Amino acid sequence: MNLLIMGLPGAGKGTQAEFIVKNYGVNHISTGDMFRAAIKNETEMGKLAKSFIDKGELVPDEVTNGIVKERLAQEDIKASGFLLDGYPRTFDQALALDAMLEELGITLDAVVNIEVDPSRLVERLSGRYICRNCGATYHKIFNPTKVEGICDVCGSHDLYQRADDVPETVKNRLDVNIKESAPILGHYEMLGLVKSIDGGQEIAKVTEDIKAVLG
Ligand code: ADP
Ligand code: AMP
Repeated sequence: MNLLIMGLPGAGKGTQAEFIVKNYGVNHISTGDMFRAAIKNETEMGKLAKSFIDKGELVPDEVTNGIVKERLAQEDIKASGFLLDGYPRTFDQALALDAMLEELGITLDAVVNIEVDPSRLVERLSGRYICRNCGATYHKIFNPTKVEGICDVCGSHDLYQRADDVPETVKNRLDVNIKESAPILGHYEMLGLVKSIDGGQEIAKVTEDIKAVLG
């Protein structure tokens, strides 16, 4: 299965991606995770990406398209499919993705669109914390770890808050993403691929609805 998961920052893409990847055995491709890995490894691309991410801006299309193209061309993608999370985020990225998929002979099966009222997203993002070891995502109120300070999935004690989840950056991220997302969704709606889900419900209910649309 070849899937996109869309939604504004904080809508629950990463949270639901954990379930989709486990349930459908697809490869998780998160451009945000790829940039954070490059920043951690202090690569040239990571340094460039950081200068945009820190301001809540999008990383330029040519850089982002390049890393996705490289990843989609790897062997495991054709064998077990993918879930693209956080890409495309501009209309030009959507067109670039169309071209990449055509070149690789891959078709998209569905676009899962998680809808949440933007007014709720600041609270979601400011309470988010992540396991540095396995990437599991939590929320201090809505989805806390079972034991405080310990990841439920891997037992690590290394939980952190993303530097770009501070209120000043969040506002710009939301503005940028709201502006860019409508034409992208329109593009996939025209292709009949969009499955919209009410992401304002509790996490387990959102998962159930995704399961129902993907079968
Ligand atoms: P995204 O990947 O779309 O930016 P995340 O999956 O990281 O969003 O979720 C953002 C924050 O909101 C996390 O702290 C997560 O635990 C929490 N969250 C995700 N889905 C829900 C939900 N349905 N209800 C309440 N909180 C949620
Ligand atoms: P995310 O983890 O998806 O919230 O992404 C974190 C940050 O990485 C975003 O705020 C952007 O700065 C950058 N980023 C992630 N995906 C993309 C993309 N498709 N295009 C441009 N920038 C991106």
